[in-house]
Amino acid sequence: MRVYNFSAGPSSLPLSVLEKAASEMTEYQNSGMSVMEMSHRSPVYEKIIADAQATFRKVMGIPDNYKVLFMQGGATTQFAAVPLNLMNKNGKADYVVSGQFSKKAYQEAKKFGDVRVLASSEDKNFTYIPKFKKEDIRPDADYVHICFNNTIFGTKFPEIPDTGDIPLVADMSSCILSEPFDVSKFGLIYAGAQKNMGPSGLTVVIVREDLIGNIRENSPVMFDYKTMADNDSMYNTPPCYAIYIAKLVFEWVESLGGLEKMKEINQKKCKILYDYLDNSKRFIAPVEKDSRSMMNVTFVTGDADLDKKFCKEAEANGFVNIKGHRSVGGMRASIYNAMPIEGVEKLVEFMKKFEEENK
Ligand SMILES: *Cc1c(COP(=O)(O)O)cnc(C)c1O
Repeated sequence: MRVYNFSAGPSSLPLSVLEKAASEMTEYQNSGMSVMEMSHRSPVYEKIIADAQATFRKVMGIPDNYKVLFMQGGATTQFAAVPLNLMNKNGKADYVVSGQFSKKAYQEAKKFGDVRVLASSEDKNFTYIPKFKKEDIRPDADYVHICFNNTIFGTKFPEIPDTGDIPLVADMSSCILSEPFDVSKFGLIYAGAQKNMGPSGLTVVIVREDLIGNIRENSPVMFDYKTMADNDSMYNTPPCYAIYIAKLVFEWVESLGGLEKMKEINQKKCKILYDYLDNSKRFIAPVEKDSRSMMNVTFVTGDADLDKKFCKEAEANGFVNIKGHRSVGGMRASIYNAMPIEGVEKLVEFMKKFEEENK
């Protein structure tokens, strides 16, 4: 029996995608083999990767002057790849530290140049998105880095910050494909696939063409956006199967009506949960309202033992992986695109019952 899986990542995938993959598992179309077994240089696979890219571009509305790269190593590898490729005009970058991943990105970038914290919300344990003004950015910074949706703390930028002429770089691992984004406002977007796009092993990078081609000397070739772009992400063997599953997910998003529709569904889903939390006497949502994430909803009871009890009973009732990140405790319901609305409705029903029993 499939459960309601609230995992933050790897996370649930649309059932129809898994079923389609299952039906093609041992033989993809008439190729006589599984996608896992075919040469990445074969025409049949070349079509899979080309279709994946084309559908992704269409769904995201990516302008022609941006490259889409299918890379490996997770979002964490991009913490280094971004400064190696982009921090080369003035050797400076400004980072917004709004959670654990952006802090890691900042620490990694510091190895490569003059990196500064532009704004931080660490003072209140990352329960809000810190504000900054365009004038606060160093005018000679090569880019500004943000994490758009903070997976662990359940916060999200309410809008795309204005960085003027300085390229905005965003880690969108946990919000990509959740709603439409104006890609032209970014210099670079990167995202690990395992939150909202597919299995782990694939990392997608969307990068404006003029930012490619300046990687610093002696960098590993696998980090070079130019190498990836010039070789259509096939300089070496790409994560073939992960790209194939991501292609099915992109097609699924398109078939539902694209990102406008996705946003409508996601807003509905998170509203059910936040409305309940705002009225509950047992549960508290610690995140400031204008910084709330649509994808990761965090909450606590205020009592660590009761949190533990909640997670245990939730699991016994088929709501799994709802425990908060080990660094923050409490609970976190990750409700990415693949989580059906019934999953959230049933979770809230269960929470009401728990509240009744644990006044
Ligand atoms: C999960 C996550 C990461 C880490 O991703 P890996 O693929 O494990 O390296 C980084 N940033 C954000 C926002 C995430 O959600």
